[in-house]
Amino acid sequence: MTSRAATLVARTRSVEETRELAAAVARVAQPGDLVLLSGDLGAGKTAFVQGFGRGLGVTEPITSPTFTLAQQYEGRLTVHHLDVYRLDQLGEVADLGLAELLDDGGVVLIEWGDAIAPVLPNDHLEVRLVYGDPGDGDDDRRILVRPVGPSWAARQVSLLEALAPWAVAPADGAGGTGTDPEAETGGAAPC
Ligand code: ADP
Ligand code: MG
Repeated sequence: MTSRAATLVARTRSVEETRELAAAVARVAQPGDLVLLSGDLGAGKTAFVQGFGRGLGVTEPITSPTFTLAQQYEGRLTVHHLDVYRLDQLGEVADLGLAELLDDGGVVLIEWGDAIAPVLPNDHLEVRLVYGDPGDGDDDRRILVRPVGPSWAARQVSLLEALAPWAVAPADGAGGTGTDPEAETGGAAPC
């Protein structure tokens, strides 16, 4: 809400492509980053975290934090993987110790993070995964990436470059920037 940065629209056609895209985003990551993942069950939020971890050199397998709210993996930066799906109340966010995790110099990725966005720092990367349109393949996903706040907005160009291989070209064919201020789908397939 505080940022004018455009939403970058990408498309993947397999879980592996989503992981590769996430790994590319991870190369732009800095200590203290917060990434909020949203999307229906099975959309690929955990797959994104797996690829992101890989991009940061995490070798341990990343799984859904089913029985714990948070899991931690060591890479170039420490990856904190949270899933707040079962969080009953916003008040419980305090129990996550998020401020400490962010201060720690690692990167925090939160599945279903949009649900608790109102109580999170207003400086984060929003990643929304959506199933493809009817007629698209079962494994097609749209991935909408939006920098919120100054830290990620300052990296908009690097993000754009990172996402370029999967960018959905704008409808006017202006050259694959993959931006779409309305955050809606549409436009031609990536090259
Ligand atoms: P979530 O965490 O959003 O519930 P997961 O990452 O656990 O979703 O699961 C995504 C499922 O969808 C996996 O079974 C994965 O193999 C499958 N899948 C198929 N195509 C894609 C794609 N393009 N991107 C991500 N996952 C995909
Ligand atoms: Mg998941």
